[in-house]
Amino acid sequence: ATPTAVMVGTGLGAEHGILIKGGESLEKAYRLTSVVFDKTGTLTRGEPEVTDILAAEGTVPERVLQTAISLESRSEHPLAQAIVVRGRSEGLAPLAVEHFEALSGLGTRALIGGKSCLLGNLRLMHQERMDLQGLDRRVADLAGQGKTCVLVAEEGRVTGLIALSDVPRESAKEAVAELKASGLRVAMITGDNLNTASAIGRQLGIDQILAEVMPGDKAREIRRLQQEGQIVAMVGDGINDAPALTSADIGIAIGAGTDVAIEASDITLMTGDLRAVPRAIRLSLETMKVIR
Ligand code: ADP
Ligand code: MG
Repeated sequence: ATPTAVMVGTGLGAEHGILIKGGESLEKAYRLTSVVFDKTGTLTRGEPEVTDILAAEGTVPERVLQTAISLESRSEHPLAQAIVVRGRSEGLAPLAVEHFEALSGLGTRALIGGKSCLLGNLRLMHQERMDLQGLDRRVADLAGQGKTCVLVAEEGRVTGLIALSDVPRESAKEAVAELKASGLRVAMITGDNLNTASAIGRQLGIDQILAEVMPGDKAREIRRLQQEGQIVAMVGDGINDAPALTSADIGIAIGAGTDVAIEASDITLMTGDLRAVPRAIRLSLETMKVIR
């Protein structure tokens, strides 16, 4: 690519809130086959809210929430913040915890009043062999509605669950439709549960769902698609998306995202409007035509 033409392309992009770092990504856009979106904070707003609190037999929702906020007040995860906010609005204060551990991609663990408490997804509960008290059926139900479920357990037994909903960005559905109309494959990648991710994917018209991907494995999933011969753009916002953004042929960070994600990307979108993704790809193609 001649430097002048690339300048033209990047200059036009800036007018639309699209920052393109270099010429190389423009050339790759030409051969692009797939766009992979991170779910939380990218396709969704990343502002989860608690919608349901259920208790297993023999306990009450307030107790479930009390244990949950005690564990989550030590975590920085967006789900944790939403749970803490809900507890506060119900006038609950966290209890003292000991031996707190954040379990990346799974949940949290600690001692509360000498009792071992565990909080997180179904995978964690299976892994730690918790007695599910029949709540796995409720999880399937809520996940089918696109909600994320966080289970709470004390002393080896699940005591309840908290469901959260994170609304898709308004522009998500249209962005996906535009990309598909131009012949690209669209996929979603997430650490969240497969049923939850599939329900959101259905709402947005995304057919390929890569779910329950541990934070360290997102980049490997991108490389797997590349080994199948796909040329991949990855769109993400978070710190844990950075390796995947770097591995992708084109990394696209959304502007509301973290500095780390922006650093790792070739293209930065200044706003959370996802229609800028097909626009950025079109812009790259047009710029390449000028050059060729
Ligand atoms: P994503 O890829 O959607 O951003 P993460 O990798 O951060 O997700 O987390 C994946 C899953 O791990 C979450 O959907 C949740 O089930 C679980 N999880 C991780 N940390 C926590 C936490 N502190 N509280 C509740 N759930 C958690
Ligand atoms: Mg994210």
